[in-house]
Amino acid sequence: MSDTLAERPKVPWDLSRPTLLRSFAYVNGRWTAGSGGETFAVTNPVDGVHLGDVASLTAADSVNAVDAAEACFARWSSLLPQQRSAMLRRWFELIRESKEDLARIMTLEQGKPISEARGEIDYGASFVEFFAEEARRPNIESVTSHLPDAEVELWREPVGVAALITPWNFPSAMLTRKAAAALAAGCTVVAHPSSETPFSALAIAELAERAGFPAGAFNVVTGSASRVVEPWMSDPRVRAISFTGSTGIGKLLYAQAAQTVKRLVLELGGHAPFIVFSDADLDRAVDEAVKAKFATSGQDCLGANRFFVERPVYEKFCALFAERTEHLTIGPGLDDPDIGPLMNGKALAKQEEQVGDAVERGARVLTGGGRHGDDGLFFKPTVLADVPTDARIMREETFGPVAAIAPFDNEDEVLQRANDTEYGLVAYLHTQDPRRIYRASRTLQFGMVAVNRTKVTGAPIPFGGMKQSGLGREGSRLGLEAFTDVKYVCRDWS
Ligand code: NAP
Repeated sequence: MSDTLAERPKVPWDLSRPTLLRSFAYVNGRWTAGSGGETFAVTNPVDGVHLGDVASLTAADSVNAVDAAEACFARWSSLLPQQRSAMLRRWFELIRESKEDLARIMTLEQGKPISEARGEIDYGASFVEFFAEEARRPNIESVTSHLPDAEVELWREPVGVAALITPWNFPSAMLTRKAAAALAAGCTVVAHPSSETPFSALAIAELAERAGFPAGAFNVVTGSASRVVEPWMSDPRVRAISFTGSTGIGKLLYAQAAQTVKRLVLELGGHAPFIVFSDADLDRAVDEAVKAKFATSGQDCLGANRFFVERPVYEKFCALFAERTEHLTIGPGLDDPDIGPLMNGKALAKQEEQVGDAVERGARVLTGGGRHGDDGLFFKPTVLADVPTDARIMREETFGPVAAIAPFDNEDEVLQRANDTEYGLVAYLHTQDPRRIYRASRTLQFGMVAVNRTKVTGAPIPFGGMKQSGLGREGSRLGLEAFTDVKYVCRDWS
């Protein structure tokens, strides 16, 4: 609790534009400490050093943000599409110009290696650029009339205020991926960033302010999620919710959204299978496996969790993968290692528990297996072989740098095992047989299937999952759907 929150953190962050650092929330075009005088602390996961305090807003402040977004909606949605597009374009350029500073802020509060942070800024900016272009596209469709003497049109109209709730693992790109689509559609936005990583979102808000969005179009509300998000869920003026985070919280929001029948996008957890058939290019499969497992230090919803390798190449794959993993470097994100710290103690404990459980059930540790160093939040990149199906790691999201490998004997068996999960975000497949690629891609119950490569995401493709990995899609033209309603107009001209 503090009533003397400074508008910016006092510790030096060595930014070329220190004004990007904000401790206040951004509501109705103003930076605010909120009405309750409360704050929360943000620490560096490398060493627990206090980075700064951030305003913790009250429920009443959060309602004020919806008031501002609602008041701005008529103005924002009635701008010419090219005017909305120009503002998004300006925002994109400012994000690109501030890339180094934004990446540094992210690495300091989130821990990810600095080159991955730079990559996330580019990735996040690409959605702003993409939706700046989509904002200009026609949103009217003519339909062949089914009635005599009548003409039929479909209009896509913005739903109103959209609430965006984002996680800590991609603290910048998850915000821009949602906000750019909502703003392009003509919606206004209230956003809640993860309390672990609010500075990245506030820096993006600073750039939105400089881009010239009208007051109330884009608001960032910091503080306890249960306090500031809850009023949005019951507020009938909030017409869409876009959430990225854990499946548990996603289910809670799904139920809460039912009360006012909000549009929903849920980007939830994953449990990606990584399947290697014996006809695969093994060196390439190993390279891709390292990327699929260890990017973002394993804290990635797209992270491969379960590696299934066909028996004839099983031992070779395990040996090569373990060898490549042993060479990964670990350290503070600013040193640009391969693996940075985990986000918090809970994440670290989960790695230990899942490894302990797998070993108890007969898994072999090929490399890693425990913490790195005596203190801090580092976990050694770990490869487990012969992991049985009943091990926790084969059922639960790991969200850390632990790979679990098991052998398989035939195609039907492995596809059945890959699908045997409540999740359905992404599946990775390595084989050179085109017919098998087709069969497997059809059978896998995942929103995204990556064949012979790992990186498949980008602004033009629809990102999203099946089953309990979520609802709706982000990116691509489909990313606009949750933020628009279809209105059907039938005009009689007889
Ligand atoms: P999380 O705990 O679910 O938090 C996500 C967001 O929800 C944060 O802003 C959090 O705010 C907020 N929140 C927490 N409790 C809430 C409540 N009761 N009501 C409303 N909002 C609430 O998830 P996380 O740990 O940050 O992120 C990791 C998870 O995200 C993983 O499961 C991962 O798979 C998933 N993820 C999915 C995707 C995808 O696109 N499918 C992408 C990235 C991550 P506070 O921080 O203030 O609690």
